Amino acid sequence: VAPHVFLACLRGEAALPLGIAMRDRHDGPILYYYGNPDQPYHSRSNVESAALWHFIAEHGQHSIAPLYDFSREWNDLNRALDEPYIVGGDSDVDISLEDYVADWPEGQPDHKSQGTGYLTCAQDRERLWLGPAYGESPDRILFFHAGGPGDPPNSGNPPLNRALWRFLTRHPMHVLAVSLDEEAGYTTIGREDLDEFVAGWTG
Ligand SMILES: [Zn+2]
Ligand SMILES: [Zn+2]
Repeated sequence: VAPHVFLACLRGEAALPLGIAMRDRHDGPILYYYGNPDQPYHSRSNVESAALWHFIAEHGQHSIAPLYDFSREWNDLNRALDEPYIVGGDSDVDISLEDYVADWPEGQPDHKSQGTGYLTCAQDRERLWLGPAYGESPDRILFFHAGGPGDPPNSGNPPLNRALWRFLTRHPMHVLAVSLDEEAGYTTIGREDLDEFVAGWTG
């Protein structure tokens, strides 16, 4: 049975289901995350993608990880006194995807950017460009916005949105973090690399 994967805040605050990890062989790499049969690719679903970008902005600086549902790390988070709430879950403490993205001002930059955001995997020394970060301060990011005012938000920007979903398939169980700093020694999937990064990708 293919495992479910949750993108978890490693402070244990919240988690976002990424879907079922699809592979073409048991020990192969994750090809894509599979969700609702009516909407097979999250990267083409507005609400799932908006929730993902919101989650990355809200928890990326706390460190996050795509955790298999059978993993000790996932079970430890859920055994804590304050277990994480699930975005899109249906228990009392959870929040629906729709509520999670309602009133979130993605793509409405009204202040100066706080820097350029990257989602980084320190283990693989790989990072993805997320665009300029907007928010109250460098450690309270509200959203990332690659375009100018009036351009679609990142969650509705196909190459960048798909690149984020694809990036998450490459780093299961790895600690990821949003960084606004330049870091030496990382392979960067930058703005000019996005089309090539998602070309031919199923998800
Ligand atoms: Zn968090
Ligand atoms: Zn990694």
